[in-house]
Amino acid sequence: MSNISRRNFVKLTGGIAAATTALGYTRIAGASNHGGQKRVVIVGGGMGGATTAKYIKMADASVEVTLIEANEHYYTCFMSNEVLAGERTMDSIKFGYSGLAGHGVKVVLDTVTAIDAAKHTVTTAGGQTFEYDRCVVAPGIELKYDSVEGYSHEAAESVPHAWKAGPQTEILKQQLEAMKDGGLVVISAPPNPFRCPPGPYERASLIAHYLKEHKPKSKVLILDNKDKFSKKGLFEQAWTAMYGYGTENSMIEWVPASSDGKVLRIDAATKTAYTELSEHQADVLNVIPAMKAGKIATVAGLTDDKGWCPVDQKTFESTIHKDIHVIGDAAIAGKMPKSGYAANSQAKVCAAAIIAMLHGDAAPEPSYVNTCYSIPGKDWGISVAAIYRLGADGVISPVEGSGGLTPMDATAEMHAREVKYAHSWFANITADTFG
Ligand SMILES: Cc1cc2nc3c(=O)[nH]c(=O)nc-3n(C[C@H](O)[C@H](O)[C@H](O)COP(=O)(O)OP(=O)(O)OC[C@H]3O[C@@H](n4cnc5c(N)ncnc54)[C@H](O)[C@@H]3O)c2cc1C
Repeated sequence: MSNISRRNFVKLTGGIAAATTALGYTRIAGASNHGGQKRVVIVGGGMGGATTAKYIKMADASVEVTLIEANEHYYTCFMSNEVLAGERTMDSIKFGYSGLAGHGVKVVLDTVTAIDAAKHTVTTAGGQTFEYDRCVVAPGIELKYDSVEGYSHEAAESVPHAWKAGPQTEILKQQLEAMKDGGLVVISAPPNPFRCPPGPYERASLIAHYLKEHKPKSKVLILDNKDKFSKKGLFEQAWTAMYGYGTENSMIEWVPASSDGKVLRIDAATKTAYTELSEHQADVLNVIPAMKAGKIATVAGLTDDKGWCPVDQKTFESTIHKDIHVIGDAAIAGKMPKSGYAANSQAKVCAAAIIAMLHGDAAPEPSYVNTCYSIPGKDWGISVAAIYRLGADGVISPVEGSGGLTPMDATAEMHAREVKYAHSWFANITADTFG
């Protein structure tokens, strides 16, 4: 393991600009009660937490970094829709923590039950307590089951959300495989803000792709809490080309909220979704409910009245509790979407800020990036990308003219190339996060 210089770290984090000096860090003697060694405790080893752990360790090996994660293996949500389509295996989206341990991160498999901001301690279900100089909270999302009457953690065993990859993905996949030809798959899409804005529509597409090949008389009905969605024009174009969208025989139908698309209640036993005016009896019912920050963020008092975590968007330090940073889906990160790439990018900004703050320096000027690829069908990829900066108003906002969408007049060759880019992105980001 190499202890890279701060200048290299700034390069590695992809454009965190030159507000830092090129000098190495000097540890502040006596500023920590742990023999001078700085301690960072990270809660949650998903996209945000794992990346932060690795990048802090790479920037300054002298910092003790403890990553506490509830599960032995992490399944990426991204590419989990390809698992549903039968295009990849669960094993291909499964990752472990040996790579991080190799970077010197102390990986603890346990569930964090409390964070004491005053005492600077983190405690776990296993009865362990960890002291920190700085804590990073990256727990992802919690599903608001009560946003749909009749839905619950228990009901998700037969009516999966599959919005956290792993066993939930398997349940949905098995149900799709067991469904008869001519069956109806109903997806209830969540209200904003939620994890992965294009995700429900990619899911509908890839389920249609699977059905087209294996059960062509079947249909996918999307009942939506919204009237528009990410990359809508591009998705509809793909659906028209591949699944007969807009015709009587379309394999995909989308019902916006304003046309009675909002699911208010379900009956899990009969897999029926009820909107204000109608009911839809499904063969496979996939309810993606409203969301909020992962439970530990609420328990630790880091959330606002809407259930998300307000932060200083330059450092991701909580505006509620000092010395605790929140990143990824749980954080309010300006105009960035809740995505794995965004969590990875925020993690690098946060790592750089923490290193600086631990050494009494100002946090560097941040730059952030995100691309969301979606694969609506065979050899058909689409994407949305942006570079972000911190605005004068303290809000992360896209840089004008950066990024953009796949053009509507993209050729078949361009769409096929986007699929290759998506798969290459997957290989790179998982290696960057867990490798
Ligand atoms: C179907 C789907 C498709 C997606 N596709 C894409 C895509 O193409 N591109 C993209 O960029 N993003 C995509 N996403 C979004 C992406 O998965 C999330 O935005 C990303 O995982 C957020 O990272 P995070 O670190 O905030 O949370 P997570 O990755 O969910 O990590 C949170 C971790 O914290 C752990 N944890 C939670 N609470 C505790 C606790 N109390 N103690 C210990 N550990 C705890 C959890 O076990 C988990 O490992 C997709 C999501 C879905 C559902």
